[in-house]
Amino acid sequence: MRVLVTGGAGYIGSHACKALAAAGHEPIVYDNFIGGQRWAVRYGPLEEGDVADPGRLAEVMAKVKPEAVMHFAALISVGQSVEEPELYYRTNVAGAVNVLAAVRAAGVPRLVFSSTGTVHGEPPRLPITEDMPLAPVSPYGRSKVMVELMLQDCAAATDLSGAVLRYFNAAGADPDGELGEAHDPETHLIPLLLAAARDGAPFTINGDDYATPDGTCIRDYIHVSDLAHAHVLALDALAGRTGVRAWNLGVGRGLSVKEIIVAAREVTGMPIEVRMGPRRPGDPPELYADPSRARSELGFQPVHSDVRTIVETAWRWLIDPPAHARPAG
Ligand code: UDP
Repeated sequence: MRVLVTGGAGYIGSHACKALAAAGHEPIVYDNFIGGQRWAVRYGPLEEGDVADPGRLAEVMAKVKPEAVMHFAALISVGQSVEEPELYYRTNVAGAVNVLAAVRAAGVPRLVFSSTGTVHGEPPRLPITEDMPLAPVSPYGRSKVMVELMLQDCAAATDLSGAVLRYFNAAGADPDGELGEAHDPETHLIPLLLAAARDGAPFTINGDDYATPDGTCIRDYIHVSDLAHAHVLALDALAGRTGVRAWNLGVGRGLSVKEIIVAAREVTGMPIEVRMGPRRPGDPPELYADPSRARSELGFQPVHSDVRTIVETAWRWLIDPPAHARPAG
């Protein structure tokens, strides 16, 4: 299948392009390179463009004639979304309106949408299942819920078949070393922790007074290549379906910040000095998925998501990136 991948030069989008190409599909990247990286476009052609530009989207749809769209292009920082909500609604919601309109105008039958486990906010119970109430607690989470609802309406009005993939904590890097995380600024636990190990700098834990066994927050870390592969499975699952279905993409086990620190010390061999900081506003104490729907309906089976593989691949990416991803000069 020819698959137009918005945000295909980003962290998860680029790993998804690699997974698509490995499965015999042709990923065509549509990216504005605000968050994406040119070196990450390696598995198919590039059509440079912004989801804010309906004219460019229509032009690319007419040229590429995709059989499916994967829509990753979005802003991803919860903290920034609280500071600049308009930016998040414009980029994530208005951008998705443009993508959905272009999909409809071009008659594309399938769309896979990047959503998040945080659509549930502070969940009423654990693990998180897909049918729990949507109760996001940040503009970022609300922007994702709005697009999920829009997608349902658009699918109901047409023959569009939609997949909503709700990511838990994507982490790690391509096991072949071709791709990895390159956010600027970086806010995620594992890359920050490993940068502290590399630089001999202290690492700050955002609070250890939560009601969890060791006091630090618990999250469901899933290797980005497992996440990427699930997109290929979702694409297959959409064949012959109509309407929209949501799938959680997590591993189903929670790890605390302190448990990740132990793994990082083991993998890097560095002591990593840890300081205690205040809680980060908006951090729920514990989030992990029930991934059984993805397992039974998509055949999703993570193979790289043990904590050691996640941390090892991220560490290799950080200390020994491939030539194509090194800054010039
Ligand atoms: N975290 C931390 N120190 C940091 C960055 C993150 O203690 O420098 C914690 C964060 O507060 C959360 C967990 O690590 O409890 C995972 O955070 P991340 O930003 O990676 O993902 P999130 O769960 O917020 O999407």
